[in-house]
Amino acid sequence: MDDHGDVREKILFGKYELQTLLGQGAFAKVYRAKNLRTGQSVAIKAMSLQNVQKGGLTELVKREISIMHRLHHPHIVRIFEVLATKKKIYFVLEFAEGGELFAKVRKGRFNEHLSRRYFQQLISALSYCHSRGVFHRDLKLENLLLDEKLDLKVTDFGLSALTDQIQPDGLLHTRCGTPAYLAPEILANKGYDGAKVDIWSSGIILYALNAGYLPFNDRNIMDMYRQIYKGTFRCSEWTSPELKRFLHRLLDSNPNTRITVEQIMGDPWFKKGYKHIHTDATDCFGLEDYEDNSTQYDFLNAFDIISFASGLDLSGLIGSPDCSIVVERFVSAESPERIIEEVAAKAEEGRMTVVRKKDLGVMVERPNGDIIFTVDIHRLTDKLALQTNKRCTTVWRPMELSKDTARANGCTKNYRKP
Ligand code: ATP
Ligand code: MG
Repeated sequence: MDDHGDVREKILFGKYELQTLLGQGAFAKVYRAKNLRTGQSVAIKAMSLQNVQKGGLTELVKREISIMHRLHHPHIVRIFEVLATKKKIYFVLEFAEGGELFAKVRKGRFNEHLSRRYFQQLISALSYCHSRGVFHRDLKLENLLLDEKLDLKVTDFGLSALTDQIQPDGLLHTRCGTPAYLAPEILANKGYDGAKVDIWSSGIILYALNAGYLPFNDRNIMDMYRQIYKGTFRCSEWTSPELKRFLHRLLDSNPNTRITVEQIMGDPWFKKGYKHIHTDATDCFGLEDYEDNSTQYDFLNAFDIISFASGLDLSGLIGSPDCSIVVERFVSAESPERIIEEVAAKAEEGRMTVVRKKDLGVMVERPNGDIIFTVDIHRLTDKLALQTNKRCTTVWRPMELSKDTARANGCTKNYRKP
């Protein structure tokens, strides 16, 4: 696939066959693809990485990717894995067969029963994510997809926070694309609570499902913002008094008095026919779990490796950032200490010097101080370690390395000017 998104390279990472372009959003292109090993259909969301290369992804982004990966809920599009090249990051997603909910509403508004069914599924997904500290922040009909049974699948959970991070110039900010869903407190630009913002947007969605049009809609965008800010909207004549009352609780322009997820679940209009979804306890995780112990996971894939890779130098996972440096990464079941012992033993056999790094890792040098290769180890789980070997095709002499390259490769020596 080239940078313009043409499907020229049909096979991605030897694993996924790209089939068709499904659509394009503010910051990404989405393709339908097939997992060549399992035959499973997936959606692949490709995002440009221009801005990431400069500073590397922040800890916050790595943490978010890792958390998003662990969202398992029947009404949330699963993220199977994340892959990267030098220029792009690819999210491999569960494929939603039924298309967009938006396409269905466009054909005709839903009755209250159907509107409630989808709204209940949306709130179930929100409740699950919010309790795990993940907020959507870009909820809109276009992000509500359907599966083969025409049940809801919310997509892009956590992605807006991520794109804020990796598109720091703000030019392609997702929020610019969807002003009709913006909560008043975002317009006021005073900082906001992700949970409250999602509830506001869910109110816009419920209104639109039942009315067939958006509550705040004006050709003049400033007039529309004024309406949103005041929270003034009119319900259509076919809306029941119970739903009207409920919509006013959702679309309360004051975030402090706006209804909460718990209160929504207790509302008589909402509760009708609601079946609580029990998520598998083994899928559950708390934010604290993540923060307290990032080494506890006992399964891994490329997603985790990217999330844990040092400095998130994504380019090194696929191609080498510098043609003279060869990077190999692999997961090992040996303990980091054992890997270091083995590297040291082999190096000493070859009369090379082993210099231990401050973190888990070593530099292997010739007696004259030329660096031959470096080994970095990251403990991923109790049982697994990620080993990164960096070898130079030409010998690294400390004085030949720029300070940045040296630092990026973990060298701690003093560098003399040649
Ligand atoms: P935004 O960039 O604000 O999210 P968007 O939701 O319109 O805007 P994308 O999320 O990039 O854009 O998605 C583009 C289109 O690709 C969607 O509208 C949808 O039709 C399709 N799509 C996205 N994810 C999937 C998926 N998991 N399964 C099937 N189709 C998908
Ligand atoms: Mg989207």
